[in-house]
Amino acid sequence: MKARNFRYIRPASLDHAYRILKDNGDDAVPIAGGQSLLAGLNMRLSAPKLVVDIGDLKELTGQSHAHGTVRLGALTRHGELLRSALVKRHVPLLARAATEIGHVAIRNRGTLGGSLAYADPAAELPACAVALDATLTLGSLAGEREVKAEDFFKGLFETDLMPGELIVAVKFPAMQASTSTGFAELSRRHGDFALVGLAAVATMRGDRIGTARLAYFGCVDRAKLARSVSAAITGLAVPLAGASAFEGAIGADLTPDDTPGLRADTKLRMATVLTRRVLNSLANRAAA
Ligand SMILES: Cc1cc2nc3c(=O)[nH]c(=O)nc-3n(C[C@H](O)[C@H](O)[C@H](O)COP(=O)(O)OP(=O)(O)OC[C@H]3O[C@@H](n4cnc5c(N)ncnc54)[C@H](O)[C@@H]3O)c2cc1C
Repeated sequence: MKARNFRYIRPASLDHAYRILKDNGDDAVPIAGGQSLLAGLNMRLSAPKLVVDIGDLKELTGQSHAHGTVRLGALTRHGELLRSALVKRHVPLLARAATEIGHVAIRNRGTLGGSLAYADPAAELPACAVALDATLTLGSLAGEREVKAEDFFKGLFETDLMPGELIVAVKFPAMQASTSTGFAELSRRHGDFALVGLAAVATMRGDRIGTARLAYFGCVDRAKLARSVSAAITGLAVPLAGASAFEGAIGADLTPDDTPGLRADTKLRMATVLTRRVLNSLANRAAA
């Protein structure tokens, strides 16, 4: 199947893009890397009259680090997350997660902003943004506003983006010496979307977990901050010895549905296994 006919425009500037999006309302949709949108257009899941190509806008690019914050432009490609020395040093969770996104061709085109805006519940980067307590900068003709990642994801493919708004950049707290991060996912084949995955950020006190933010993906309708599990693991020594209280907390945070080929109780079991793996990996990093 092929997409319905649409007009295509490449704005000259970010303000130009905002103007086009405002003037065309629901008829217009932005395209960045096109790795999700084009598939949707070809399957006729949506049929916009106008596709606004934001992929060349310099205002949406760039990587910087200042005052303990790393700012990445919305057009940062998944492949750049893998290769960037700044990302590897200050937000290594993003570089680790990017290894699991699709395949090389997808990572070369797909963007950070596109992944967050698309809000696939099984995508890696939304969960990383939530675990890292990232802040999104959203822009429109009305100006810019900031939204915490955990407030940005509203439901299945639903976000806080208002009509005419674009993700401009994402700000991540830079890793501190005491911060440790962990990541794991289970998928049927490498590069497939995750069946269940987990991104974790923890402040370590020796071999004990101080504060923690765990975000699961692939389990429920969005990247989900697991407050109960995060609280239950506070003070735990890693590697874990035997069964742990966090296992009971997982059910309080995650209430998955049965999906074709995967029952809800299996997802919870997989989430428990992944949590144990990720927590034990924090111990290795703390030791390093
Ligand atoms: C075969 C295949 C396998 C894949 N596997 C994975 C995977 O394992 N994990 C994973 O996470 N992803 C996967 N993807 C999706 C890929 O990561 C996409 O690149 C990403 O989801 C969207 O980024 P994009 O830049 O391509 O966005 P686009 O496809 O251009 O846009 C996606 C949506 O976001 C909107 N949008 C884009 N940029 C902005 C912005 N700055 N502000 C506001 N709205 C914006 C668009 O209007 C559109 O609605 C896969 C894709 C394919 C085709």
